[in-house]
Amino acid sequence: MVIVGAGHAGGTAAALLRSYGYAEPITLIGEEPIAPYQRPPLSKAWLKGEADAESLMLKPESFYAGAGIELVLGARVTSLKRSERTVCLADGRSFAYDSLILAMGARARALPIRGADLAGVLSLRSASDAEALKGALGPGRRLAVVGGGYIGLEVAASARFLGAEVVVIEREAAILARVAKEPLCSFLTRYHEARGVAFEVGAMVEAFEGEAGHVTGVRLAGRRAVACDAVLIGVGLARNDDLAREAGLECVAGVVVDGEARTADPQVFAIGDVTHRPIPHYARMFWLESVANALEQARQAASIIAGRPAPPHEVTWNWSDQYDLKLQFAGLAFDIDDMVVRGDPAGAKFAVFHLKGDTVQAVEAVNAPAEFMAGRQLIGQRRPISRARLADTAVSMKEVAA
Ligand SMILES: Cc1cc2nc3c(=O)[nH]c(=O)nc-3n(C[C@H](O)[C@H](O)[C@H](O)COP(=O)(O)OP(=O)(O)OC[C@H]3O[C@@H](n4cnc5c(N)ncnc54)[C@H](O)[C@@H]3O)c2cc1C
Repeated sequence: MVIVGAGHAGGTAAALLRSYGYAEPITLIGEEPIAPYQRPPLSKAWLKGEADAESLMLKPESFYAGAGIELVLGARVTSLKRSERTVCLADGRSFAYDSLILAMGARARALPIRGADLAGVLSLRSASDAEALKGALGPGRRLAVVGGGYIGLEVAASARFLGAEVVVIEREAAILARVAKEPLCSFLTRYHEARGVAFEVGAMVEAFEGEAGHVTGVRLAGRRAVACDAVLIGVGLARNDDLAREAGLECVAGVVVDGEARTADPQVFAIGDVTHRPIPHYARMFWLESVANALEQARQAASIIAGRPAPPHEVTWNWSDQYDLKLQFAGLAFDIDDMVVRGDPAGAKFAVFHLKGDTVQAVEAVNAPAEFMAGRQLIGQRRPISRARLADTAVSMKEVAA
């Protein structure tokens, strides 16, 4: 068993294979110098200094040797030869496999504009990226965040916690345009503004300006430049599917898999952010970028390889922490025709339910865990609900879901 990519998905798959009784040798190959770790805290608790490096690890490093998992770190796989069933590393080593799991994840998308190579222009995907970002933050430091997505907003909140001044620059007319809907977008804009974050929306970044090789500002089309000491580019990700594409596996901005994480090659599975996968609940193919997805597909691949039945499909979910807000999301807002808001955005405790007819397709919950949990259940069950009862906080979510 060879796993390429020692991240959240790859590390989980290796551990699950052993817990499912798989007894053959397992080799887990990762480009980063450290054992599999969790990325979500890199923009949240870890960045704020509330979590240490040790707490990020999926398992203590000693676990892998104890479980008979060979961990090959600081090693980049450069080619996959499916006819020979081997993967080759940049340093010339090669590993043969009977089964292969591709778990290469994704990288932060670059902004190919002038000044992008200046010192202080940063992105955030890995622990080493996070170290560099943390070093650029502190009282009085000015951070420009390019991209008003979840990672950009989490970093904005953490940077404010650390005393930095923050401007978020967004190309669309509102933040979170790609991933969230009203009224969450305007709620979060107001929440950040009230905590000192400035926004430049509908703004095109033309170039990064610098002095002596270090960034000093962001030039915007038709507007004044934003002065800064550092820039975080948070404009989405690019999936690391090159290896698979070059080996002739089907890729659609991600490795195409079926509902059990299989590629068209029976020996090759793909899991996590790198995949383009079916979402049976919405009867379509899609890309998910979440821990829940990494865990679900790791379970699928490990189950099949260990000769167990595939686990049932899950309703996808995700979360974000910003200031004192616990944001929880379930489902995907496809084909929606209506929306019910339950609770009070002014009190920072509410949930937005997105409906298709009388069924819930997705929920966005702000400091509302009961709404998130019941919402996730309602999405999975496709049970028709009463809009009036859903909107009425006097009716408990248990009763709404019953
Ligand atoms: C800052 C940040 C905050 C996030 N917050 C949340 C959150 O709040 N909630 C949530 O659900 N998700 C969050 N995510 C997303 C979540 O971390 C990812 O969905 C998850 O890490 C995906 O796991 P993965 O194993 O597919 O990819 P990764 O964890 O990225 O692991 C892939 C690994 O493969 C390695 N690799 C790539 N190519 C090769 C190669 N050719 N050879 C060897 N190794 C290779 C990479 O170096 C990497 O270590 C966040 C991500 C980031 C960066």
